[in-house]
Amino acid sequence: MSTLPEIIIRPGEQHRTLSGHPWIYKGAIQKITAPVADGEVVHVKDAKGRGLGIGFYNSKSRIAIRVLASEPVEINQAFFEQRIMAANELRRRRMPEATSYRVVNAESDFLSGLIVDKYEDVLVLQTSSLGMDQRKHEIVAVLQSIFSPRAIVERNDIGTRKFEGLPEANGPIAGEQPVPFPIKLNGLEFVVDVQGGHKTGLYLDQQENYEFIGKLAKGGNVLDCFSFLGGFSLHCARGGATHVHGLDQSETAVASAVSNAEKNGLGELCSFEQANVFDWLKNRTQKGPNDKLIPPYDLIILDPPSFTRSRESVPNALRGYKEIHVRAMKLLKPGGTLATFCCSHHVDMVTFREVILSAAYDTKTVLRQVAIYNQSPDHPIIPMIAETEYLKGFAFEKVG
Ligand code: SAH
Repeated sequence: MSTLPEIIIRPGEQHRTLSGHPWIYKGAIQKITAPVADGEVVHVKDAKGRGLGIGFYNSKSRIAIRVLASEPVEINQAFFEQRIMAANELRRRRMPEATSYRVVNAESDFLSGLIVDKYEDVLVLQTSSLGMDQRKHEIVAVLQSIFSPRAIVERNDIGTRKFEGLPEANGPIAGEQPVPFPIKLNGLEFVVDVQGGHKTGLYLDQQENYEFIGKLAKGGNVLDCFSFLGGFSLHCARGGATHVHGLDQSETAVASAVSNAEKNGLGELCSFEQANVFDWLKNRTQKGPNDKLIPPYDLIILDPPSFTRSRESVPNALRGYKEIHVRAMKLLKPGGTLATFCCSHHVDMVTFREVILSAAYDTKTVLRQVAIYNQSPDHPIIPMIAETEYLKGFAFEKVG
C-alpha cells in the first residue's frame, strides 16, 4: 500500500474518532505533513503520532476528514464491495421480505457521504462528500455486480453538496431513464418517481412503521396528516379502517395517493385532500361559544416534514409540533390513538415527548403510551454517531 499523506489532529480531539465517529472538523486539525489534494485518502494520527485511521480529506468542507477505516486499507473497488455487501446482508437479515430498501445509509454503514436506495430493480445513488463523489465509478461497478439493476439514477440535487464544493446533479448514470414505476412496500403497491420525488423517491425509513400503524387502524376512522403518497393511509385501509382521510399540501402528492389507493383496491376506503394541515386542523377545532366539538377520529397520524434543519430554529419548530398535537388531541375520540413522528435530528425523543405532554396538559388530555418507534432497520442507528438517529415516534392512547 502506498504511503498516505498524514494529518495530525490536536490533543484531545482523538476521542471522538476513537469512539467511532467518522467526522473530523477542520478546527481539530493540527498539522498536515504533506500536500494533499481534496478528495484524497489521508492517514489520521493523534498528537502523539498514534494512528487513528484513514479517511477522505476535503479542505473545502467544515468536515475536513471523513474517516473510513480505523486501520490503513486500500480504498478501492474491493473495499466498497465488502462494505456494500455487508450493508446489504444486514438488510436481508433484518428485513427479509423487503424488495425496496436503503442499501447504504452513509455513516450508519461506515460509508460517510454515500447513500444507495433500492427501489425493486432500480438503484438511486447519492454522494454527498467529495471523496465519495470522486469514486462514483468504482461504486457503480460494485452496485452493477451485486444487484444487476435495470438503472442507476443519481439524486445529487441536494443542498449539502455545496459545502463540499460539489455541483448539483440529477439523472441516470447507468441503464435506462426510469419513468415513475410501481414498487412494493409490505405487499402494497406505490408508484415512485425516483428522479422527482421527495428524498430519493419516497420515505423508506417509515416502511416498518407503516406496518405497525396499519395494525392500530382496525375498525377506526383515521386521519393521516402529511400523507404524501399515502404510505400510512393505505396500510391503515388494509388494516381494517372504516375510512382514512389523508391531508397534504402538495397537489401531486394528493393525486399520487388517490391513484395508489385505487391501484391497491382501497380507493373506496380512502379520501385525500389538498390542504395545509395547520389551517385544516385549526378550522376543525375552532368552535363558537355554544358549539361542542365532538371528536371524530379513532386514529390520528402526524408525520410532518422536519420543522427544523438547524439547532437555532428548534424553538420555532417546537411551537409547530405543539400546535398540531394540541389540535389533534381535540379531534381524537376518548380511547383513540395518536401516532406521531418527528424526523428532525435536532429534536430528540425526550424533547419531542415533552412537547406532546405539554399539548396534552393544555387540552386536559391524559395519555397512555403504547409504543415507541424508530426509523426502519435499513437506516441503522449507531449510538456512537448521534446523527444516525433521527426518526422517532410514539403511539399514545387518549385515556377515555
Ligand atoms: N407521511 C409521509 C411522509 C410525509 S413527508 C410518508 O410516510 O410518506 C411530509 C409531507 O408533508 C410532504 O408530502 C409535504 O408535501 C407535506 N407537507 C409539508 N408541510 C405541510 C403542511 N403545512 N400541510 C400539509 N402538508 C404539508
